[in-house]
Amino acid sequence: MTRAAILSLAILMSMVARGSQPSIDPGAHRIVDLSHAFGPRTLYWPTSSTKFRLESLASGKTEGGYFYSANSLCTPEHGGTHLDAPVHFAERGLTTADIPLEQLVAPSVVIDVSSQAAADRNYRLTRDDVSAFEKRHGPIGRGAIVLLRTGWSRHWPDAKAYLGDDTPGDASKLSFPSYGVEAARLLVDRGVAALGVDTASIDYGRSADFMVHRIAAARNVPGLENLTNLDQLPARGALVIALPMKIEGGSGGPLRAIALVPR
Ligand SMILES: [Zn+2]
Repeated sequence: MTRAAILSLAILMSMVARGSQPSIDPGAHRIVDLSHAFGPRTLYWPTSSTKFRLESLASGKTEGGYFYSANSLCTPEHGGTHLDAPVHFAERGLTTADIPLEQLVAPSVVIDVSSQAAADRNYRLTRDDVSAFEKRHGPIGRGAIVLLRTGWSRHWPDAKAYLGDDTPGDASKLSFPSYGVEAARLLVDRGVAALGVDTASIDYGRSADFMVHRIAAARNVPGLENLTNLDQLPARGALVIALPMKIEGGSGGPLRAIALVPR
């Protein structure tokens, strides 16, 4: 954890300890939104049978003369900016509601492979990339949320550009960058809190065996997928707050993720 992140946590904790109103000093932090909005254009895995649906239950003037609106929403867990709970790929893995908050509120490191991904849309993070990052920015410690920046959120929500193929019902021709298996193994061995990425999956698009998902899930490391705005974060020093909808027994869920970046 960097000194800035420790400081942010210390300030928050001292506020809680003193029983004072927890507040974030807007002068001390920039707040970055890491989530795409959910709507009719939200991208889902091509084999998903349904997408995000918002149905109006009420909208307009009531008999009492005041305005009232409410909607019903329906969505597969895995689409848009979302969390993968470990149980998504490990039978005994944690479900969405059971993931310790310490794994979802933690300092981040941002590994930038956007130039490699621009040259090769099937690029996978390597162990050498992790070593190069650590040489420059210091070790990736236990409890860090790793964010892999590929630059792919610039394609959102163009399915063909973002996923590599837009054939409905067919996930066999996808191509987009993400984590490589050995790099994921290394990061999970370090005890990282979560693996995040600004593409549709913590496995690259061509993966058929979902090894990165399986490696992470086996160690109860959740995934954060379809993130955005990673270019607005420093390599380290931000505090990420990535809280999914608390679904009992869930294998994932819609995720509102933000980052507090010290100014
Ligand atoms: Zn997922």
